[in-house]
Amino acid sequence: MQHLDTYKTKGLRKKLVEELKTKEITCPKVLSAIEKIPRHLFIDSSFLEFAYQDKAFPIGEDQTISQPYTVAKQSELLQVKSKEKILEIGTGSGYQTCVLLELGAKVFTIERQRNLYFKTKELLTQLNYNANCFYGDGYAGLPNFAPFDKILVTCGAPFVPDALKEQLKIGGILVIPVGENAQQMQVYTKQSDTEFSCEEHGDFKFVPMLENRK
Ligand code: SAH
Repeated sequence: MQHLDTYKTKGLRKKLVEELKTKEITCPKVLSAIEKIPRHLFIDSSFLEFAYQDKAFPIGEDQTISQPYTVAKQSELLQVKSKEKILEIGTGSGYQTCVLLELGAKVFTIERQRNLYFKTKELLTQLNYNANCFYGDGYAGLPNFAPFDKILVTCGAPFVPDALKEQLKIGGILVIPVGENAQQMQVYTKQSDTEFSCEEHGDFKFVPMLENRK
């Protein structure tokens, strides 16, 4: 693995941050997390030049690392505060996980693809990012570790799983892209055990949230 973070990669990240600002990402903490995290280490080293383009990219096992804009947008919508306990569904490359860690959260993350789970857990350890990684099914969440201050789903969900609503604290926020082929970014705030308010934040395209582990 390429550990090097050079002037070149740092420069490319600065440019990416400028690009995200033009796309109306404004949260300084989110922008500085993106400026800090060497995204090129999360994709195959032969594709270095793609790492800092604002595009999704294949990471193997038919999965993708989300587009930087999408990571930034979801992170903003989550309004992360230091020490919050966050559940992420879809560890994937681990890049979004690291953004949440840089924002000061305690992160629990679930991946359903076994190989990806092992590969990313190892990478995060090597990079000194301390997340709690689980191989499992995001539809079930993590009842043993609930409740969570925030929940972030990074795959396209056909519906909002009840388990995730249940595992959210009152006052907590769930950010979830909902839809089959394309998704609407929905942001739920838990008002009481049974009541949620919902806002919509535009159209996105994610890999599907699938049932059962693989
Ligand atoms: N946050 C990731 C995005 C990866 S794409 C990143 O920054 O790279 C979404 C991921 O969700 C894929 O790795 C996919 O395998 C995973 N996924 C799909 N359905 C899932 C489910 N039911 N439970 C957990 N993970 C799931």
